[in-house]
Amino acid sequence: MVVSTRVVIIGGGFAGAATAYWLVRAGVRDVVIAEREEVCGLHASGRNAALGRQLTEHECVSRLAIRGCTLLRTPPPDVADQPLVSDSGSVLLSGRAETLQRLGAQAAALGLPYAPLAPDAILARWPPLEGMPMVGGVCFPTDGLIDIHALLTGLLAGARRGGAHVETCCEVSGFAPRRGGVVIETSAGAIEARCAVVAAGAWAGAVGALAGADMAFDRLRRHLHLTGPLHEVARDAPFVWYLDDEFYARPAGGGALLVSACDETNVAPGQDGASATAVLGLADKVARVAPRFLEYRITRTWACLRTFTRHGRVPLIGWDRGIPWLFWVAGLGGHGATCSLAVGRDAAAAIVPRLR
Ligand SMILES: Cc1cc2nc3c(=O)[nH]c(=O)nc-3n(C[C@H](O)[C@H](O)[C@H](O)COP(=O)(O)OP(=O)(O)OC[C@H]3O[C@@H](n4cnc5c(N)ncnc54)[C@H](O)[C@@H]3O)c2cc1C
Repeated sequence: MVVSTRVVIIGGGFAGAATAYWLVRAGVRDVVIAEREEVCGLHASGRNAALGRQLTEHECVSRLAIRGCTLLRTPPPDVADQPLVSDSGSVLLSGRAETLQRLGAQAAALGLPYAPLAPDAILARWPPLEGMPMVGGVCFPTDGLIDIHALLTGLLAGARRGGAHVETCCEVSGFAPRRGGVVIETSAGAIEARCAVVAAGAWAGAVGALAGADMAFDRLRRHLHLTGPLHEVARDAPFVWYLDDEFYARPAGGGALLVSACDETNVAPGQDGASATAVLGLADKVARVAPRFLEYRITRTWACLRTFTRHGRVPLIGWDRGIPWLFWVAGLGGHGATCSLAVGRDAAAAIVPRLR
């Protein structure tokens, strides 16, 4: 166990792994990722829907997602030797012509390729959307599905190769400020560092509180469901996201689909078990927005937490305002896989100058 280092990152999900990767790329080789679980990726980073969606609800998140997706398409060779996002595209759907026009205008302003799609063209690729109250969709050809496992393992491997240590079964339990830095107490012993990076996902607020910071987050549990195989949608079909009454679906291999009713319940960190009523909630939603989905059998349901800041739901990437040795990479919300490479790069760029 390393006892003295320059940077300790708390959390080995996308936020922590990407920050570690870009730190070592910037020449900061003495980095420790402290991850409480036995393996990295047991929470949101390993259990999400893997959609690479670039046009989001917030312009600032869209800009991060566009930069993130560009890096996923051509990843650094020491992270992956092939694209980490497919070229299958996406279609955002709506029953309102003005929503579709707004999406087009937003995409144009961001320089994001897009094309309007008529309902017939959408149903040709997605027969189970028959009956959806839509007037059409907007296709985003550079969106796609992310290989989230390859992304996380590639980031961790790249960080390790550059000198970072990944300590699993290592729970951070306290901080003791020292002149010029901090001692981080962990279940595997104390680590002295110049700075601590909170990349603890749903636990970011709790870890920050251990350091004396007062930063509140919302942790919104969402369920994902896997259907049985009906082989109606090709494996390379775009993912579809209905915006008016949120619902999304994507091919999941073997003729199955992954779907979500986009539910959100504010819960405590760690409450990421699936609710017994989640499938009923899905049935309610599809009865309204995509009734043909009632023909699908659900074979598996799971949940995890999307963590949001309370400042306009945009990620928090920066130094704490009151604690000089504390840095935040938290509140990645619902697009953290897509944004991860850009988030880690921005975080490292902000951390490095203070280490000199
Ligand atoms: C249902 C759902 C679907 C999603 N779908 C998508 C999608 O399609 N596309 C997309 O881009 N994003 C998606 N997301 C969002 C994405 O998964 C998250 O934004 C991202 O995984 C957050 O990464 P993270 O590293 O901040 O958090 P996490 O992956 O949760 O990692 C935090 C880590 O910190 C560790 N930790 C916590 N406390 C401590 C401690 N005290 N000591 C040591 N370690 C600690 C935890 O064990 C955990 O491993 C989805 C999220 C959910 C919930």
